[in-house]
Amino acid sequence: VCPTGAITPKPDIDKVWSEIYDPDKVVVAQIAPAVRVAVGEMFGFEAGEVTTGRLVAAIKMMGFDQVYDTSFAADLTVLEETNEFIQRKSDGGKLPLITSCCPAWVKYAEQFYPELLGNVSSCRSPQQMFGAVARKTLPEYLGVKPENLVIVSIMPCTAKKFEATREEFSTDGRPDVDYVITTQELGRMIKETGVRFSDLEPESLDMPMGFKTGAGVIFGATGGVSEAVLRYAGERLTGEKLSDSDFHEVRGSEGIREYEAVIGETTLKMVIVNGLGNARKVLEDVRKGKSDYDFIEVMACPGGCVAGAGQPVSWDADARTKRAGGLYKSDKRHQLHNPQDNPYVQKTYSETLGEPGSHAAHELLHTKYRNRRRISGISLETDAKADTAGM
Ligand code: SF4
Repeated sequence: VCPTGAITPKPDIDKVWSEIYDPDKVVVAQIAPAVRVAVGEMFGFEAGEVTTGRLVAAIKMMGFDQVYDTSFAADLTVLEETNEFIQRKSDGGKLPLITSCCPAWVKYAEQFYPELLGNVSSCRSPQQMFGAVARKTLPEYLGVKPENLVIVSIMPCTAKKFEATREEFSTDGRPDVDYVITTQELGRMIKETGVRFSDLEPESLDMPMGFKTGAGVIFGATGGVSEAVLRYAGERLTGEKLSDSDFHEVRGSEGIREYEAVIGETTLKMVIVNGLGNARKVLEDVRKGKSDYDFIEVMACPGGCVAGAGQPVSWDADARTKRAGGLYKSDKRHQLHNPQDNPYVQKTYSETLGEPGSHAAHELLHTKYRNRRRISGISLETDAKADTAGM
């Protein structure tokens, strides 16, 4: 069930099959980080086992033309969000900066904390950054007419379906992401194809948007965004490469975790929150002006995206921890760990975006939010109590 309780899952499986069977269409997939450590559970693998290669092979066998990685866009998100954070910190802008990658949290803020929307990062989520960059660059790269490019997201989450339909995330009236299917729905599609998932030979993701650093992969666990931000902020604030990219202090499963990072001359007071009940506790203090955090990471699902509502249902009480562990192991296996080192992200900046925070980057990678409290006409107190009851 969606953590906001406001989003009805819409299966798009039949529509995706129709696009795949249409010979004029070029259908590309983006795979979110958390999917790779959970989809295997539907085919007899242990929770947390990283099955990216088999996943790519299965998706290609189903008829998709290209398979890319949302983690590429997560690397991009870190550069934009960290840039925004450092700018606000240095020029006295609005702090704390609150992350914006989780659409269920963003909608919750729009409904219950519209007065804090100025604190929410203007960055699109990785799913929507991917959609915008893919729409702009892939038609030429793949030699396909823009109208024939179909972008499908494979997400751990039902809230991502809602996010893809927001009018802010469309270009010339067409959504930047055409369809969103969940991990469970993808598993069903693989079964419909009759593929024996465990027997597949792993295949590699397609370039350029299949390349990512470990920072883009750990986004799927609570604390992952904060750690990725620290990996870039460390270098931006000191001008030196980090000797160690791991920030174990921000990892874990507690609902509210504080961390004070001292980077050069700068101290960053961070808090990592997962679960909307915990978010409410932290945000009430921000609303009352009683908080001194610089940065707040919020994920609506307890544990982060590894435990999203679109992930396979598991009877293993440790599944969430094992899935997160799989992401950290995957980070270790990557050649690069810091998002600023991703050569394809660098190429995207040099050819299309300029630099983090540029006008072009704002046009393509940032967004605005709505005050939904006024639209819904429901008072804060009434809604806040209803939300607490549903936790
Ligand atoms: Fe979706 Fe949950 Fe991740 Fe938020 S935390 S993006 S609701 S899976």
